[in-house]
Amino acid sequence: MPEIDPLQDKTEKTILLEEKLKALEVDLRQKKEIILAQHIKLEAFFESSIDAVVQMDFDGYITGWNHQAEKIFGWSADEILDQTIENTIIPQRYREAHRSGLQRYLKTGEVSFMNSLIEIHALHRDGHEFPVELSISVIDTPDLQEFSAYIRDISKRKHAESLIWNQANFDVLTNLPNRNLFLQKLDHEIRSCDRSNLSLALLYLDLDRFKDVNDTLGHDMGDLVLTETSARLKNSVREVDTVSRLGGDEFIIILGQIDDPLSVQRVCQQLLEALACPFQFGDEKVYLTASIGVTFYPGDSRDTETLQRNADQAMYAAKSLGRNRYHFFTPELSERARRKRELIDDLRAAMQQSQFEIYYQPVVSMRDDSICKAEALLRWRHPQSGMISPSIFIPIAEETGLISELGNWVFYNAVEQAGRWRDQFNPDFQVSINTSPLQWSDVHDEMNEWFIYLRESGIEGQALGVEITEGLLMDANDRVGNRLLDFHDAKIQISIDDFGIGYSSLACLKQFDIDYLKIDQSFVRNLDHDQNDPALCEATIAMAHKLDIEVIAEGVETEAQDQLLREFGCDFGQGYLYSKAVPAAEFESLLATTSLTGKSCIDHS
Ligand code: C2E
Ligand code: MG
Ligand code: MG
Repeated sequence: MPEIDPLQDKTEKTILLEEKLKALEVDLRQKKEIILAQHIKLEAFFESSIDAVVQMDFDGYITGWNHQAEKIFGWSADEILDQTIENTIIPQRYREAHRSGLQRYLKTGEVSFMNSLIEIHALHRDGHEFPVELSISVIDTPDLQEFSAYIRDISKRKHAESLIWNQANFDVLTNLPNRNLFLQKLDHEIRSCDRSNLSLALLYLDLDRFKDVNDTLGHDMGDLVLTETSARLKNSVREVDTVSRLGGDEFIIILGQIDDPLSVQRVCQQLLEALACPFQFGDEKVYLTASIGVTFYPGDSRDTETLQRNADQAMYAAKSLGRNRYHFFTPELSERARRKRELIDDLRAAMQQSQFEIYYQPVVSMRDDSICKAEALLRWRHPQSGMISPSIFIPIAEETGLISELGNWVFYNAVEQAGRWRDQFNPDFQVSINTSPLQWSDVHDEMNEWFIYLRESGIEGQALGVEITEGLLMDANDRVGNRLLDFHDAKIQISIDDFGIGYSSLACLKQFDIDYLKIDQSFVRNLDHDQNDPALCEATIAMAHKLDIEVIAEGVETEAQDQLLREFGCDFGQGYLYSKAVPAAEFESLLATTSLTGKSCIDHS
């Protein structure tokens, strides 16, 4: 058996051990390298993170602070490491909460917002606060105890969100809440009224004749007026009340927590007074008034839509009572509005169902008593309600835009009728039609068709007279002026209807080449017993004649009125004394009798 050399044996063991050691060293180096690589990787991740990464030990000291943290908080890592979070990036008002949160964790291990995203405000080095989004994780091992916070600056996002919110909830021009926010506030106020057992008042405010401001002074001035109006309205109510703009010149105001309706009256009065002072813009002075409708929650209704409708109806009542006033909602208003809605529906159907007729009222020459003209007056034979007066349905037709269709229908029928009567009875016969100012506005351009129709049908222009209101002449813009010239060129004569109740000036009459004035029946009615009206009629007739304008007296009912008018030199008369407005067939027999016998329908005997 060979002898074992102990020395050699030791050497082999040593070699073996050395090899093992070497292998271990290599392994360790490799592991170190891996750890280093991981560390570098982590460091890179830490530094390149788009979020600020802030680490804090359990005593609240900052132990990690990446590049992004430097950027959003304004502190460099050198400056901030080893300072406390509380004294640096937490706004004063959150510090107490931060401290107790940390204490709670240390005691119980609970963190209320662990691993969830929260939004709070952070403090920048320069002292300004900004919104951040934050998530926190915790490492709690015997070797390492640390909180890591991932923090993102969300100022831009918040700004964009608030822009979007503002756009959705505020009126751009006046910065008042818009309809959307108004509805939210109304809901809110209603809930607090329910809790307190008090009422709230809803005020619907609409500027009177604001359209005139826009039309005469331009939209820029109109915008200024609206902005100033908003400021005045806000100043006239309490801080807790809400003034919103619904659009155009319409505002809606919520007066919350009302225990005494008298206080609402006072506010309404204040609002009207606030608008009564003239608006001064440079050299321009604008006078403005408003109409206000008022309704109460829960007294008038508990439903928000009904409340808005009530306030709107009450506002219209204020307008129709003469504007520049407030009106409280009453159930009768709602009944009236219901009837009006029905009438609107019926009016729409009436056109299709041929429920309209034209009646003709004779216009008599005071020179020879002949019926030389007729006024076409629209009649609506309602299937249930019977004959409805034009003074009721014409305003509704104007409001709903149906007036242009109706006006056209009257035009074509009246012109054809005039043509037939000219052929049959009197080649100079003329039928006049009434026109609404709306038919003269840009929206309705059908009048062009009228001229084409006249040319093509061969009916002379003289066959037609067109009655316009004084108001139209007063507000006449270029468009109306040119249109009047078109009528003049087509030999269609123009009358001013209801003359005397408006404020048209002599200059207007001259400028627009008016052919007839129709003295309003309110002046004629009092001719025989009022002191002033005879003088007014006489002066009007004399003035018109000086301007080469002929005069038609409306509403002549008595012989005495007829007599006086003749003495004043009036040219034509129209009224119940001669005849009421009658259907075409009846009018035709009137014409036939007078033209056959040479006598008029007036019996002077
Ligand atoms: P208007 O143009 O001033 O017509 C005269 C109104 O006075 C007519 O009322 C007529 O019937 C009435 N009247 C005539 N003579 C007398 C009288 O001696 N005494 C009294 N108390 N009244 C008399 P009507 O037909 O009810 O028409 C009312 C108004 O409706 C018209 O007033 C006119 O402004 C409007 N209107 C009628 N037809 C039309 C139309 O086709 N288009 C438009 N836009 N308006 C129309
Ligand atoms: Mg008329
Ligand atoms: Mg009239």
